[in-house]
Amino acid sequence: MTRFLSALIDAVLPRSCLGCQRPDVAVCATCWAAVAQPRAFRPDPCPPGLPPTFVAGEYDGVLRTAVLAAKERGRSDLLPLLAAALTGAVANVAPGAGAVLLVPVPSTPAAVRRRGGDHMRALARRTALELQHAGRPAAVVPALRLVRTPLDSAGLTAAERARNLDGVFAADVDVARLAAGARLVLVDDVVTTGTTLTQAARALRACGVRVSAAAVAGTARWHRDRLSR
Ligand SMILES: [Zn+2]
Repeated sequence: MTRFLSALIDAVLPRSCLGCQRPDVAVCATCWAAVAQPRAFRPDPCPPGLPPTFVAGEYDGVLRTAVLAAKERGRSDLLPLLAAALTGAVANVAPGAGAVLLVPVPSTPAAVRRRGGDHMRALARRTALELQHAGRPAAVVPALRLVRTPLDSAGLTAAERARNLDGVFAADVDVARLAAGARLVLVDDVVTTGTTLTQAARALRACGVRVSAAAVAGTARWHRDRLSR
């Protein structure tokens, strides 16, 4: 089914909670309270150089459904909810009231074309708004780019995945100037082995900045899903 068609069906069908099907709500408060529980994330094995990372919840159930619907089905109505969750994770990894710079992990050009936009950049923008509403200076700096296209990570072992992503990101050298006096937080939707965040952090550290990371959801069962960038 094309993305357009699925978006059209989503628009026409009456909406109900992704968890319990209660009508007229994208995700009801009860289902959301059960999934949005920020916690530190540390995969096992943990890749050397993984920045301190918080996730908003387990990549399972309603949270997983919501992430996939926003990412692959164009359900932009779920962005505020996911941004609120990500804001909680960001606040945990970068406590205090100081300025926050959010650096979204970039998607491949093919994924951006397929999805009709860069969902992580949109989610980061919305998260910056949430932080601002909470009285915290925040901005999005798309300081990372892919220097080559990695293979699809589905089916790769942790070691193969690490090799596949080795040196794949480059950072804008200007990021050190922009990040002066602010907390820089890498943001992603799903963290699995931690390889992506580790490589992204490495590129940023090469520019002389300190990095922490936050994701909407974390899972150790990274092989179960097709997690394309
Ligand atoms: Zn519900």
